[in-house]
Amino acid sequence: MTTTEPSATPYQMCTRCVMDTSDPDIEFDADGVCSHCTKFDTITRAQWHPDAEGERLWSGILDQVRADGKDREYDCILGLSGGLDSSLLAVRAKDWGLRVLAVHVDAGWNTELAVHNIERLVEFTGFDLYTHVVDWADMRELQLSFLRSGIANQDVPQDHVFFAALYREATRRKIRFVLSGGNIATESVFPANWHGSAMDAWNLKAIHRKFGTTKLKSYPTMGFLRYYLINPYVRRMRVLRPLNYMPYDRAAALAELQERVGYTDYGLKHGESQFTRFFQNHYLPERFGYDKRRPHFASMILSDQITREEALEKLDEPLYDTAALAQDKAYFIKKLRISADEFEGFLNAPLRTHREFRNQVRAYEGLKKLQRVVERLTRRDLGAYG
Ligand SMILES: [Zn+2]
Repeated sequence: MTTTEPSATPYQMCTRCVMDTSDPDIEFDADGVCSHCTKFDTITRAQWHPDAEGERLWSGILDQVRADGKDREYDCILGLSGGLDSSLLAVRAKDWGLRVLAVHVDAGWNTELAVHNIERLVEFTGFDLYTHVVDWADMRELQLSFLRSGIANQDVPQDHVFFAALYREATRRKIRFVLSGGNIATESVFPANWHGSAMDAWNLKAIHRKFGTTKLKSYPTMGFLRYYLINPYVRRMRVLRPLNYMPYDRAAALAELQERVGYTDYGLKHGESQFTRFFQNHYLPERFGYDKRRPHFASMILSDQITREEALEKLDEPLYDTAALAQDKAYFIKKLRISADEFEGFLNAPLRTHREFRNQVRAYEGLKKLQRVVERLTRRDLGAYG
């Protein structure tokens, strides 16, 4: 006897970018153009100023940052992962003459290249560097909880502590401005359903409560209220995304960093973390069919950095060559002290979503609405938190 599977959504890829039905929320218009492209044209493009207008706007913001920082030890804080975006931003911040506290969070997965690049950057910029080293027992415990949970965003334990440590330092030193390498040119397309927010401390704790085996000792978390209300409204902290006020081309950025700083290319995106590299290029595509290159290339098509044909060609390339995959996998399971069989178990367990665990998704949506009203009433751009 045969059973009939419920008919799945037929496969479709956008005719303008390269997003496809691996994003369950994607919609297409009559010409086959996807909802990400439409959103880019109708909403995102207005926030992107890679032109003379951007230069003017950014110079106004810079004046404000300098004036505000006059009696403070630092003008702003910058998270330094060693990745391309934050590295270029560090170089720009030096060129602007900003007094920056650079913060690096070492979650135990830095590649040697990342360490090298951060050293080069700190030497080149002369910025003070504060490094927060995450307790490895906590990190491993939390990452194993997430692997057992079976959800898509395994990067949350790393991302959450990155922000928690950064904002803790900003608060401690009374720094108001946070420089973020986040940018429209390479990251505008983002399938929301692929991931929950890394800022959702309830979700993180709920997952650990259910799947963890020991208590976390010193892993810093940042609550919803602190991040979305106290920081922007009480402490008046602002997130600035300078790369949205200037042309930002990854190839040109890499060439500049190589020449001026002695920066070394990672090859794959997110080659700065062994965990992220393996998670994004193996776990996510194998288990969920999510290829993170897809939204990345889609963003770069929309910002005219590559053509759709080039993107399609690159998507045809394997995510890993066999030798590198074997090497990274061996490192991953050894570091987390799990067996190859255990990892295969995680990879093949039933798919779960973060929404199955206590979360702040609805509170977040409500707050974003409230934030937009406040911004409209006060005519103040709060730096688009989250
Ligand atoms: Zn599209």
